[in-house]
Amino acid sequence: MAVFSYVDGDYRAEQVRIRDIAAACGTPFYCYSRAGIEAAYRRYEDAFRGFDVTICYAVKANSNQSVIKLLAALGAGADVVSGGELRRALAAGVPPERIVFSGVAKTEDEIELALEHNIRQFNVESAPELETISRVATRLGRTASIAFRINPDIDAGTHEKISTGKSENKFGIPWQSARKAYARAAELPGVRVAGVDMHIGSQILKLTPYERAFERVATLVETLRADGHDIDTVDLGGGLGVDYDRNTPTAPSPEEYAVLVGQLLEQLGCRCIIEPGRSLVANAGVLVGSVIYVKEGDQSTFLIIDAAMNDFLRPSMYSAHHGIAPVKLNGRADRTYDIVGPVCETGDTFARQRTLPEQVPGDLVVIEGAGAYGSVMASTYNTRLLVPEILVDGDDYRVIRQRPDYDSLIGLDLDWAEGVRAC
Ligand SMILES: *Cc1c(COP(=O)(O)O)cnc(C)c1O
Repeated sequence: MAVFSYVDGDYRAEQVRIRDIAAACGTPFYCYSRAGIEAAYRRYEDAFRGFDVTICYAVKANSNQSVIKLLAALGAGADVVSGGELRRALAAGVPPERIVFSGVAKTEDEIELALEHNIRQFNVESAPELETISRVATRLGRTASIAFRINPDIDAGTHEKISTGKSENKFGIPWQSARKAYARAAELPGVRVAGVDMHIGSQILKLTPYERAFERVATLVETLRADGHDIDTVDLGGGLGVDYDRNTPTAPSPEEYAVLVGQLLEQLGCRCIIEPGRSLVANAGVLVGSVIYVKEGDQSTFLIIDAAMNDFLRPSMYSAHHGIAPVKLNGRADRTYDIVGPVCETGDTFARQRTLPEQVPGDLVVIEGAGAYGSVMASTYNTRLLVPEILVDGDDYRVIRQRPDYDSLIGLDLDWAEGVRAC
């Protein structure tokens, strides 16, 4: 079943007409499909059947409580990168023994919270971070299971802003320094070495970078074991890309990826954690907006919609391509548009020179592939309200995050005369 499809010329999420949600909730809004998320998760689960793999959903891709709960109910753990995300995962009922804590610089407070809840593993990104984890754990009388995030110096071949596994990136520790880091960890109180971790980037569209990184990981695990460390888990991160353009499918499948991982696990005889984010939720979500004006420019015709870059940053931040489709197949002649939002930035452009049946003010459009790194990256720039989120299930839907109101947004600001001197 296609989770988003036209029935009688109407764009639907599962069996619900997008225009019916728009009529009840207004625009813009994010709309996710429960079946779409479940199908993506099941695909991973099936692909990895027979291996000792924990699928830790990378919460930062879409951290709505209902989305995390849905995945947790299917058996997923969580990969979190901040104390806030840890709280979200716990609040959604993810069992702590299935939570891994990644992230470049965990603070003492964050480490303490994670230790109090006895999470599965810390993915440590630097020598000073290791020292802090050891100190906090010792103070609390706990033991932190740790893996070092190894930077394998592999080019993931993805956009520069989401490439994380090259030596010039800020992430992890250089693989050449790994032995020293593990030797230090073995000396420290309050920490127990559990494994090796990596995450080389996001929206990775070729398996070759994974293959090369896995080779490095395999060599390293063997070296570390020879050094006397008990490495029983490899955490291979996330990053598997998705097809944002349905017409040119290029993304490797979870099945192909699982074959590679399986070879590594058989070679090493260990357990594994994977941290998919985007590939579980991206294509299970759309952003719906409505046309405010059609503006005839010198060079192009602008379709100005009520969603903007503050709501969905990927096109302007990563030059990302997203499908944009009309909600009603209206039978009008095709026209070519630059599709933009109302924010005062040239970067507030979703797509250039796209062909759609003629649109008029009030018509609805969907931006596809918006389920990952959409809502979570939204801001209130231009004093625009955060976009609500809707979850569809079969022929029913629920608002899973309300649209805030202006009073509460503006009310966060305090007057000098109110005299507060602490945060
Ligand atoms: C962002 C991130 C992920 C998820 O990446 P996707 O491309 O969304 O699969 C996994 N692990 C870590 C450490 C991350 O930072």
